[in-house]
Amino acid sequence: MRVLVLGAGFGGLELTTELSDALGEEAEVILIDKTEGFVFGFSKLDVMFGRATPESVFHPYRDCIKPGVEFVQATILSIDPMRRRVQTDAGPYEGDVLVVALGADLDPAATPGLLEGGQEFYTEAGAFAAADVLADFSGGRVIVGVTSTPFKCPPAPSEAALLLHDFLTERGLREGSDISLVLPLPSPFPPAPDASRAVLAAFKERGIGFYPNDMVREIDPVRNIARLAGGDEMEYDLFLGVPVHRVPAVVEEAGMCVDGWVPVDPYTLQTRFTDVFALGDVASVGTPKTGVFAAGQAVVVAQALIARCRGGQSQPYGGRGICHLEFGNQQVATIDVTFPPGKTPHGAMVVGPSAAIAADKSEFAATKIRRWFGRD
Ligand SMILES: Cc1cc2nc3c(=O)[nH]c(=O)nc-3n(C[C@H](O)[C@H](O)[C@H](O)COP(=O)(O)OP(=O)(O)OC[C@H]3O[C@@H](n4cnc5c(N)ncnc54)[C@H](O)[C@@H]3O)c2cc1C
Repeated sequence: MRVLVLGAGFGGLELTTELSDALGEEAEVILIDKTEGFVFGFSKLDVMFGRATPESVFHPYRDCIKPGVEFVQATILSIDPMRRRVQTDAGPYEGDVLVVALGADLDPAATPGLLEGGQEFYTEAGAFAAADVLADFSGGRVIVGVTSTPFKCPPAPSEAALLLHDFLTERGLREGSDISLVLPLPSPFPPAPDASRAVLAAFKERGIGFYPNDMVREIDPVRNIARLAGGDEMEYDLFLGVPVHRVPAVVEEAGMCVDGWVPVDPYTLQTRFTDVFALGDVASVGTPKTGVFAAGQAVVVAQALIARCRGGQSQPYGGRGICHLEFGNQQVATIDVTFPPGKTPHGAMVVGPSAAIAADKSEFAATKIRRWFGRD
């Protein structure tokens, strides 16, 4: 069985590792990605706030040598889901099974004025450039603002506001600065009310302004004003934005989307096309667009494919994810949330925030890199 995996991000790396571990050379897996390496989403915040260098958070795919898996660095130009065939700039590839794990593309140009008057921090380039912008910042009114839904890692804008507080404090700039967070959610993390309460308490303690249930529609780079969907205007000296998210054009053009994303069976991750799966940010599973959920979905697809080769039962996807939540000041908490298909999501902050969990988070990343890339 030849498995074609499109995208070597959180989901694609987890899927191919599971298949390789279980099937070894028996697996015939082709993993295609256009980039030279992987960067964790949370590492973008580390670079942005000067806690890591771009080089230290970059994990090159050339190290990713696993039995039964061939990595191809190529851009996917078209997808034929009926034939499970793709065209790339390195030629065509075909599989018995096709797994689409191409993530969400980011479109900063879609928000008027964002490129001219603000700094987005969700792309790698944007987050790394934000590090330079922040290094030159001498204090003032800062807005961390989300420009559309859905957006990756719903707690990340709150984490950015808290880390910004530390950053400005360490530089003696906090007293002369205001921090405001504009979030299109009623609370920082609605499925886990206790986590939301803890984040709101941290905002209050640090004097961070929280503007829920709203988002930034437009930036006026001449007057330094952010216009919100609700009609309000906010003045800023530095605007840090979460840009519009879109399904990659190649997936849209393949006719796989409904309402902007790829619909799947939430238990099996199967699309409406035979032997074509979609997982992670590209799919509308009903879970947040977050790496830990992409990885959980990848395990379910891998188990189904392993069961096909070896026999046995595979488990349905249950929508559970355990994630870390940064509070700044070396404090991290663990949140356990479940998005059961068709039901209300629920969750709680299970440990922390503490420095011990901050160490756990580093170990989590190191363990993933060891597993996916076979090196420290
Ligand atoms: C600031 C920030 C903080 C975050 N923090 C966390 C966190 O703490 N925990 C967490 O779990 N998640 C976090 N996330 C979210 C996480 O990064 C994503 O949800 C996760 O990476 C999604 O995995 P994926 O496999 O679906 O897609 P991705 O990891 O985005 O992978 C998609 C891959 O497809 C490739 N690709 C796309 N188009 C093409 C093409 N045409 N041809 C070839 N290759 C292509 C891309 O190069 C990419 O490697 C954060 C994100 C951000 C931006």
